[in-house]
Amino acid sequence: MAEIQLRNVGKRWGNFVGVDNFDLTIADREFLVLLGPSGCGKTTTMRMIAGLEDASDGEILIDGKVVNDLEPKDRDVAMVFQSYALYPNMNVYENIRFPLKVRGIAPEEHDERVRRASAMVELDEFLHRKPAELSGGQRQRVALARAIVREPNVFLMDEPLSNLDAKLRVSTRAQIKNLSHELAVTTIYVTHDQIEAMTLADRVVVMKQGIVQQVGSPTDIYDMPANTFVASFIGSPAMNLMEGEVQGGTFRTEHVEIPGLSAPDGPMTLGFRAEDAGISEARTGQITAPIYTLELLGDATMISVRVSGALVSVKADKSFRAEIGDMVSFSVPVDICHLFEAESGARLG
Ligand code: ATP
Repeated sequence: MAEIQLRNVGKRWGNFVGVDNFDLTIADREFLVLLGPSGCGKTTTMRMIAGLEDASDGEILIDGKVVNDLEPKDRDVAMVFQSYALYPNMNVYENIRFPLKVRGIAPEEHDERVRRASAMVELDEFLHRKPAELSGGQRQRVALARAIVREPNVFLMDEPLSNLDAKLRVSTRAQIKNLSHELAVTTIYVTHDQIEAMTLADRVVVMKQGIVQQVGSPTDIYDMPANTFVASFIGSPAMNLMEGEVQGGTFRTEHVEIPGLSAPDGPMTLGFRAEDAGISEARTGQITAPIYTLELLGDATMISVRVSGALVSVKADKSFRAEIGDMVSFSVPVDICHLFEAESGARLG
């Protein structure tokens, strides 16, 4: 059992606020991902949970017990970092065994636990190798096994895939997902990669400048972004966002006229996802503009136009043929549109 509660947790250095008022309960066995751009406070939040950083405000509870004053070693959490920091002179077996020695676990338990952890990350065949004789992905798996072997109540993972190449990242990501399911341990995972967040998380916390922007399942965050920051951070490509004006239920800006909205009059940001709209016949759509760029994606072609300085893209069939500069028309059904307040960026309704 490990439920983690963050009660109005904050971190300040002088006047600088690194994390502000973080308030969330992470359920036992939940896989929670902290997502946001560089410097938004993800690592700091995790370091406070691990006890590597003191919280300036608020309380951190693990299983109902306030741990603010507990040393990291007394919190029963295991961390996996982006730099795996293996001991170069020890072989894989000894590296994985090391935390058991440090924690004074009975030596007769070591062998079975090391073998079980290494089997989980498919390192059985490499136990006698030194870190220098391993690939990056294998080293990262040693780091994972070293966390698993402790059988902690909580896993904290800080960008564990960021040093791996793209292909290895995908396979190791799948392995982490499978492991977390098998081990059923509460996991907090930090990343700035929205695809990692969407694929791994039970819930995602999107952060910006130390402030939580939204907490929800990957589907919630994708389908109902709380504001334009979340909308522009999640999805590949990000949601199309256009600044304009609503009058009498019609949104207008350069090249754009979308009627039939239920929204108050005034300046507004309208968003929609590239895959939800389509190319329409001969200038009958709600957006009509010259093509700015076309990208072949293999299974589709992404067509982009410029609307008031921003790129707006729609996925067309892969057989779609046109040239840069040709006029194109997008049909944007009203029910797939998202509306945000122009000034605050907050979602309407
Ligand atoms: P990244 O993805 O780049 O690791 P992050 O979201 O994990 O970013 P943090 O490392 O949590 O960000 O840092 C949050 C903010 O706090 C940053 O602006 C950072 O510069 C600042 N910060 C971190 N540690 C300190 C410190 N010891 N003193 C002052 N400011 C700090």
